[in-house]
Amino acid sequence: MSDSLIYPERGMQWGIFLFMVVSAALAVIGMPLYIFSHGISRFDLLLFFFYVAATGLSVTMGYHRLFAHVSYKVPSFVKFLFLFFGAGAFEQSALKWASQHRSHHLYPDTKRDPYSMKQGFWHAHIGWLIFWKQPKVYENVKDLQKNKIIMNQHQYYGVWALVSGILVPWTLGIMAGHGWSTFFTAVCFRIFFVQQATFCINSLCHWIGKATYDPEVNAKDHGLVALVTLGEGYHSFHHRFPGDYRNGIRWYHWDPSKWLISLMGFFKMAKDLTRIPPERILRARLHAEKSLARKESRSASRPSPVLEQAFT
Ligand SMILES: [Zn+2]
Ligand SMILES: [Zn+2]
Repeated sequence: MSDSLIYPERGMQWGIFLFMVVSAALAVIGMPLYIFSHGISRFDLLLFFFYVAATGLSVTMGYHRLFAHVSYKVPSFVKFLFLFFGAGAFEQSALKWASQHRSHHLYPDTKRDPYSMKQGFWHAHIGWLIFWKQPKVYENVKDLQKNKIIMNQHQYYGVWALVSGILVPWTLGIMAGHGWSTFFTAVCFRIFFVQQATFCINSLCHWIGKATYDPEVNAKDHGLVALVTLGEGYHSFHHRFPGDYRNGIRWYHWDPSKWLISLMGFFKMAKDLTRIPPERILRARLHAEKSLARKESRSASRPSPVLEQAFT
């Protein structure tokens, strides 16, 4: 097996690049211009928010916590809904997404981490998708390959994405007499918004906040980042305990995916919800505090470079 199959290698991804540029231009230039000249209806707003929630949460609850981490179980029709609306977020197939994400957790900040923060903020945010050819090795998602719907979505991803992300919302808009405004809001701006929110998980969540549970990994916890990332901002906890279906463990932590999975569990639509026992969480936190304190005291006892220079 050649290196290029294991490690990402440099290579412009023109298809992704053009899609990003066109959708971003339509979102940040086309949409404001259209709204300024035509206004926006309640229908457009409702469809926009519905589609942000449906596609965004299908990525966080479905692609991420269900498929990549198997932190709970759901019946096939719920998996189908996650796959359908997840495809509409235009973030690749669930199989590819989960494979890359498992590599991110298994080899953080190494050459095998597709969105390693060590290669810079913009690489982790979007550069890894545009300027790098990512390996297509699915050995780490053999469990997912057994599922026929996941494989169908993977094989015919373009069709799934087109139908879910563009044709369905646009057709609904046309039927309601709001064709172009729906195109700019629930299609273009929504795709741009949900993509950027997800990309922030790989960049902001490894940049801002506190490494509450593991100072060895640069994943951080931050309440404001949680707001931007649809609840994925408690990233230090998530990297320390990826099998837990929650990211924000306190009741007040903004984590809509956690609340909805709990609700699904209450109504028997989800089962086997994994929760790490509180004593293990506390132990991890204390361990992290201790090693942080050790690091700080080591750097405090070291003479400052200015003083060292003054006495040499
Ligand atoms: Zn991460
Ligand atoms: Zn994860």
